[in-house]
Amino acid sequence: MTQLRGAALSPVHAYLLVGPPGTGKREAARSFAAALLCPTGGCGVCDTCTRALGGVHPDVVVRERTGAWISVGDAREIGRLGALSPVEGRRKVLVLVDFHLVQDAAPALLKAIEEPPATTVYVILAEHLPPELVTIASRCARIAFAPVPTDRLAAALVAEGTAPEVAAEVAEASGGRPDRARLLASDAGFAARRAGWSDAPGRLDGTGAVAATLADELLAGLETVVEPLAARQAAELAELAERARLYGDRPGERKELGDRHKREERRIRTDELRFGLASLAAAYRDRLAGGRDPAAALAAVQAVNAANEALARNPNVTLLLQALLVRLGRLEASAAGGRPPLR
Ligand SMILES: [Zn+2]
Repeated sequence: MTQLRGAALSPVHAYLLVGPPGTGKREAARSFAAALLCPTGGCGVCDTCTRALGGVHPDVVVRERTGAWISVGDAREIGRLGALSPVEGRRKVLVLVDFHLVQDAAPALLKAIEEPPATTVYVILAEHLPPELVTIASRCARIAFAPVPTDRLAAALVAEGTAPEVAAEVAEASGGRPDRARLLASDAGFAARRAGWSDAPGRLDGTGAVAATLADELLAGLETVVEPLAARQAAELAELAERARLYGDRPGERKELGDRHKREERRIRTDELRFGLASLAAAYRDRLAGGRDPAAALAAVQAVNAANEALARNPNVTLLLQALLVRLGRLEASAAGGRPPLR
């Protein structure tokens, strides 16, 4: 990122990288840290860069939250780490992840980042700016991260070796998130899963039995999405083991990584479920456009959208999907029989 590359020459003491999940904040923070430590400003190939980019440089410290929110204890620990001198080089970089979840810890964190030694640089990552983070944000140089436009993302995937037609499809399906687009591009089951959702309307007959079978099939598809992620997570665990071998264990580090991996898994399942529901809604919108029983098609689109919204409330996903499919099946049956849709 050019803005950060320039900043590495004469850094201020704190940066705030703000943008939705999957827009490359973590990767940018890592290469920024490498640039801050590298004797030549981030060559990408020297020993310092290699270790910083590989997550094994002792002067690049990445802090993950330990609970659902950043705790006051987390913030104090950050202050303690920030006050330490660099182990090797001229600077120490503290990367703070998920700081939109700062809540009550904001005053303690503000205190920490306002009094660092000149050798410490904070790089704070947040998905958005909640009110608690506003004062902290005012003390930081802010850099915005946005979803990548679909055509640019597709071009990047093609450059990395993805077939053009696959690249276009997964870029579209990723909502402009490079991490998700890359996962989908490496995911052989993507097209089949999408077809499973798009073809669902034709299989429904309004019975609970068919809805339950179909729900099981679609949810089994969600599990295959986690597989490419598992490979990356295994690599991160190996990286952690290597770091522990070289520099010793940091208490809690393994648990932090495990917790982050669980969050990633949850997020990826939810992303995929939302994508499935969007494919399902698109299938009904096509019918609506085709003029075939528009009232039933419209009711179906609304039912799918309502289910999508309900996901935010962390429901039992199996029950949610079964109920949706039963409802869609009834709409289907009533459209076929010319009766008014059942409520
Ligand atoms: Zn270098």
